[in-house]
Amino acid sequence: MKTFDELGVAPEILKAIQEMGYEKPMPVQEEVIPFLLGEMNEVIALAQTGTGKTAAYGIPVIQCIDIRKNQPQALILCPTRELCLQIAGDLQDYSKYVDGLKVLPVYGGSSIESQINSLKRGVHIIVATPGRLIDLIGRNTVRMNEVGNVILDEADEMLNMGFSESIDEILAEVPSTRNMLLFSATMPAEIAKITKKYMKQPREIVIGNKNESNENVKHQFYTVQAKDKYLALKRIADYYPSIYGIIFCRTRKETQEIADHLIEDGYSADSLHGELSQAQRDNVMQKFRIKNIQLLVATDVAARGLDVDDLTHVIHYGLPDETESYNHRSGRTGRAGKTGTSIAIVHIKEKGKIRQIEKGISKKFEERTIPNGNAICEKQLIAWVDKLEKVKVEEEQITEFLPSVFRKLEWLEKDDLLKRLVSLEFNRLMAYYRNAPEIKAPDAYSSEGRREAGRDGREGREGRDRGPRRTSPGFTRMFINIGKVDGIYPNTLIEVINQNVRGRVGLGKIDLLQNFSFFEVESSVADKVINSMNKAEFLGRRVSVEIAQEKQGDDRGERGGSDRGERSGSERSGRFGRRPETQDDYASVRKSNFAKRKEGDRNRGSRTNDRGSFGTRKTTERKKRY
Ligand code: AMP
Repeated sequence: MKTFDELGVAPEILKAIQEMGYEKPMPVQEEVIPFLLGEMNEVIALAQTGTGKTAAYGIPVIQCIDIRKNQPQALILCPTRELCLQIAGDLQDYSKYVDGLKVLPVYGGSSIESQINSLKRGVHIIVATPGRLIDLIGRNTVRMNEVGNVILDEADEMLNMGFSESIDEILAEVPSTRNMLLFSATMPAEIAKITKKYMKQPREIVIGNKNESNENVKHQFYTVQAKDKYLALKRIADYYPSIYGIIFCRTRKETQEIADHLIEDGYSADSLHGELSQAQRDNVMQKFRIKNIQLLVATDVAARGLDVDDLTHVIHYGLPDETESYNHRSGRTGRAGKTGTSIAIVHIKEKGKIRQIEKGISKKFEERTIPNGNAICEKQLIAWVDKLEKVKVEEEQITEFLPSVFRKLEWLEKDDLLKRLVSLEFNRLMAYYRNAPEIKAPDAYSSEGRREAGRDGREGREGRDRGPRRTSPGFTRMFINIGKVDGIYPNTLIEVINQNVRGRVGLGKIDLLQNFSFFEVESSVADKVINSMNKAEFLGRRVSVEIAQEKQGDDRGERGGSDRGERSGSERSGRFGRRPETQDDYASVRKSNFAKRKEGDRNRGSRTNDRGSFGTRKTTERKKRY
């Protein structure tokens, strides 16, 4: 392996990076630096985050700047403000001893005037997010005729974020003789298109296989029933007492909900997503960086700019659709020579996706079972004992208090003392987990597994529970006039109930149907729920809740139709000229639909569907963490 010196890095840059603790080049640097220092050739570098990409292009770009020309000579485009600031900061560090070199970060959400003033004074390297740069170009405040190098960093993410046209506009402003360097964690087809369009004969440098995962990352998955997903997350967090990680969710709403629940349950957590203001996001990221927060619940885009090297875990609360995104997420751990674990909490129907990711990253996942209460208590205890062993004893500070402590405890043997210390720390945790049931993976062949897998009607069709639905003892089954066409999920329904009914509401099974739904509530609060919910509105429509009619269980007409994806005319356009609002309205729609479908079924071979319920008993109140 060569040294930075041998790669041709100039002494003033060498001095700065040595001060930063860069002793030897990382593989991507060893490949890219000498190549770019040569003739400033064009490069496509595929390397994971955390592999030292910024220095790989930053060092040669700095070295090729002619300080005497007070003009932008290099342009670095990146997707987010955070990354922009991070890159500019790194370049400033590398060029600490390069006299007069000016690097300007240009990004949205900060004063454009001060950026214009800096541009007027003259800069050598611009690091920009595409939107703000276009704004500056539109105001004629940035000249790019001397730009010799354009770097697209995290090019895949810029495309994901819809910056493709902006990149075209920007590239039209720089001389056609410029070099282009493209750095990307992944190589989706769109990137290949860009390289064809804008690059002449780029050298492709691949660190590891394309999309191959970082060697330092272990990949694991847990299969759980949908209703247990959050519980499983808590157990995983409890099983790793020193966890410092990001929990990725698919939507902003889910991100906020999971973070809220974790906070409510006593975890050191917060959320990061696009609905927060920039100031809020900065605040959360700072708290996470300094480890005031152990768990950051985030969307992919919002977590982009976060630069943290020592994450122990990345948790996928929802798997992303693309292998590239999975790889990008999991590449946030196991960085800078450290090891990390990427954990996916999946539903049985996502196992196929796991296999697909395994192929993409050329690595096997380990399937794990959710730790039980005992295992968690033991893990926490050992971690605590470890801390006890390693705690720094501040002799001077405690000496004066010790005599009275010894006097008070002198009657206790060492064993007794330890037992008391452990009890003090762990009684609540142990009580919490004492009777906690195991969280089992749904067996694909059990009725639970089939019901779980069949929720979206794509899998597990055979052998479903066809018996009439029975109301759980102690519960009353309610009808509500909102259903899947209104875009509700079980969580949404729980939310609507929470928002409108005061106090604790014990909920049982929830059955979401196309136009309406059923849910069970503890019989003691049934009247209260009806009274409160009937004053409520959902998406501007009056909510109607009533006790479900006994015969309502047999709603095969509704289900059969929706499962085949062929909603009847009345469902699509409103057979009554309005949406039916009561069970009787629905009953007559169903009756006529059922008659039609029976006819259809006879032709097709009868197939009715009961997708079963969503989860077992839930309560809208949550327990505090032990
Ligand atoms: P990057 O992929 O550019 O985000 O870099 C990931 C991390 O590795 C950053 O914290 C860098 O400061 C660090 N780093 C980059 N190059 C080296 C090197 N040669 N030796 C040690 N650390 C490095």
